[in-house]
Amino acid sequence: MDLNTITITSFTVRDLRWPTSLDAIGTDPMNLAGENSFGYLQYKTNVPGLIGTGWSFANGQGNDVLCTAIRSLAPRLLNRPLASLTANMGLTQRKLQSGQIRFMSPERGVLQLATCAVLNAIWDLWAKAEKKPLWRLVADFSPEELVRAIDFRYLSDVLTPEQAVEMLRETGKSKAERLQLALENKAVPAYNTSAGWLGHSDDKVRELLGQAVQQGFRHFKLKAGLGLEVDRKRLGLVREAVGDEGVLMVDVNQIWDVDEAIEYMKQLADLKIWFIEEPTSPDDILGHARIRAALKPYGIGVATGEHVNNRVMFKQLLQAHALDAVQLDACRLASINEILAVLLLSAKFGVPVVPHSGGAGMVELCSHISTIDFVAVSGKKSILEYTDHLHEAFEAPAAITPDGMHVTPVAPGYSCDVKESVFGEFECPQGSFWRSAKGLEMLNDPWRGTLGEQTS
Ligand SMILES: [Mg+2]
Repeated sequence: MDLNTITITSFTVRDLRWPTSLDAIGTDPMNLAGENSFGYLQYKTNVPGLIGTGWSFANGQGNDVLCTAIRSLAPRLLNRPLASLTANMGLTQRKLQSGQIRFMSPERGVLQLATCAVLNAIWDLWAKAEKKPLWRLVADFSPEELVRAIDFRYLSDVLTPEQAVEMLRETGKSKAERLQLALENKAVPAYNTSAGWLGHSDDKVRELLGQAVQQGFRHFKLKAGLGLEVDRKRLGLVREAVGDEGVLMVDVNQIWDVDEAIEYMKQLADLKIWFIEEPTSPDDILGHARIRAALKPYGIGVATGEHVNNRVMFKQLLQAHALDAVQLDACRLASINEILAVLLLSAKFGVPVVPHSGGAGMVELCSHISTIDFVAVSGKKSILEYTDHLHEAFEAPAAITPDGMHVTPVAPGYSCDVKESVFGEFECPQGSFWRSAKGLEMLNDPWRGTLGEQTS
């Protein structure tokens, strides 16, 4: 389809919230009530039936703020021919992040999430217009086309567009073989976190682990930080289920100070843990570097990224040798534009990208991202989290093969579309759940997720 003939004519923004905390999904040491939520944007066009969908992820309270931020940015692209936006996506990103609105929180925080939703909708629209899944649209780019999607401002001391083109030419030499593997669902191995949420009983964890081993999983991640005795018991259950060859990871969602992280993790060294995820504040780049250096002799690595706001922070984390895995988040960064920048930076520093995908819709988006990384950027196989909740809500749901590989997306677009029937129940505040007694009680509790304060 000629992108010059497609014009954005109107948009809608909807607040979608699933009460996932009621099933103990999304609960972690920092947040007692994880409620997977979307600020959900749709751009309608002059072409009947052609709609670009993009969303950003939030956690219950605050999703109204996200929706407001998306509403403030979305009008910027009205009445624009799609071709005028896609010709230079790096410039489109820069324009969205410029102007008066930049004062609010430049390339971080809620406006970064909103920028992501807007750009996700444009990438979705572009891929749908080209009748390709998003990963394939990007994998088919020439090195120059891929580099044009990136805003290199703040990166050129470490990576220039010319160096990026050179890197992509090099990996491009064997791209055809990897493309074939992607088409055969052999590009992205999965790891499992569904057994690891904090709210589950030991028996439930055992049951879920047994299922996961049957499904072919060999990598497992658990929430930790509950105290050494409790953590040892839970991690022991996993070791028991997966044996010595299974790979263990733990996640504490930012609860520790730097020295506390080092001392705690040293005492779990005998359990052979690949990495500790988010050991401390996501903003503490030098703290992560110190933790990594201190734990290296114990064979424990460090991972972070799901709250890392932009390419500049990832640049510094990599420069400081603070990471063993780059856990970029599909919505924390400014969509595919900035994700491509981080994929290139990670490839340059030789650190694997293991995207964060522990929430509704995240696997749907990240299966595109990991496939792009494997086929077109690093050329190396990594792993990607697979959580098994809420896939049924999506028009193009993510899935895994019987041998634990992610199914490569085939539907045109970025797999963002949520089934309309879901909104009747979970759109906030008018969906039937949020009008029920339980829903209203949750909405009216200003302390949802806070230890010692939550009343609902
Ligand atoms: Mg995490």
